[in-house]
Amino acid sequence: MTAAMDISVTRVERSKLQDLDMENLPFGKYFTDHMLEADFENGEWKNIEIKPYQPLLLSPSVAALHYGQAIFEGIKAYKDREGHPFIFRPQDNHKRFNISAERMQMPAVPEELFVEGMRRLISLDQAWIPMKNDFSLYIRPFMFSSDELIGVRPSDTYKFMIILSPSGPYYAAPMRIYVEEKYVRAVPGGVGYAKAAGNYGAAMYATAEAKKKGYDQVLWMDAFEHKYVQECGTMNVFFIIGNTAITPGLEQGTILGGVTRNSVITLLNEMGVTVEERDLSIDEIVAAYKAGEHMEVFGTGTAATISPIKELGYKDMSMTFDLDKWKIAPAIKKTITDIREGRQADTHGWMYKI
Ligand SMILES: *Cc1c(COP(=O)(O)O)cnc(C)c1O
Repeated sequence: MTAAMDISVTRVERSKLQDLDMENLPFGKYFTDHMLEADFENGEWKNIEIKPYQPLLLSPSVAALHYGQAIFEGIKAYKDREGHPFIFRPQDNHKRFNISAERMQMPAVPEELFVEGMRRLISLDQAWIPMKNDFSLYIRPFMFSSDELIGVRPSDTYKFMIILSPSGPYYAAPMRIYVEEKYVRAVPGGVGYAKAAGNYGAAMYATAEAKKKGYDQVLWMDAFEHKYVQECGTMNVFFIIGNTAITPGLEQGTILGGVTRNSVITLLNEMGVTVEERDLSIDEIVAAYKAGEHMEVFGTGTAATISPIKELGYKDMSMTFDLDKWKIAPAIKKTITDIREGRQADTHGWMYKI
């Protein structure tokens, strides 16, 4: 792809923005006026278009619906105090998108199409980025196989798209989490490190079972011994025990390498908190809990940033945490939100100007 990427732009005749109730924005429900669409054919990306948000016309035989070659990303855009729009770390999501693509035997998407395409789309719809504390524009790039053929083989054609959804404050209510010992999410050698659509479908049954027991989500454990902590829903997980933060490492390829996880590790280090990326067993957690150590437990992800965990249910034991005593998690949440919304200097180059 050349430097001057050719994007054809068709604008809506009438914006839907005036119909939007900014006070009532459930996550992922409303979409902006435009979307980006591109086709991979004969080994190259073509037909790059920004056009009015609209349904797709697909053949029932389209490969992605049958065999699940489908991946996605989740990113957020914000406005700073002066109203300038920024995207949080889009290059990192682009790198991860191509890691997912490779694992699913799908073509790479060039940075220019992913990041510059996103920038062009958002600049067209920038009036949709809410300029209020805790509001943002959620960006959903995705790709799926589009051959019309129900043979089990990688597709020759793919569609890459970006859609945008304005979202209101994602109230991260403290969660009750069930330590899952029967079902597993990922295995070494599997696709756990990819943001592949099927990973989420495969997680729904166990999550529904946990909800029946009164929990919000499951904490996935390793596939062999059901002993080592992995992650939670669409969040990585951190345990602060004493003054040390522990989060599972990425080397086994069973957890998603979150951009928020990476940002939180950086900020914890800057706060002087020791961070250990390593195996963490449920026995170690139970022992720290029983010893009465100071503990803060939380999930990290683009949607909610930092989600406190107030209770862990493990076998017939319930471990509850006193959020009023937490210091580190709330400080991290404040710093990251202040950087994103322009109240604190962006010393890491995380904010990409639109
Ligand atoms: C997206 C996701 C995360 C969080 O990643 P971020 O880049 O921080 O949004 C964590 N775990 C899973 C399984 C995910 O899908």
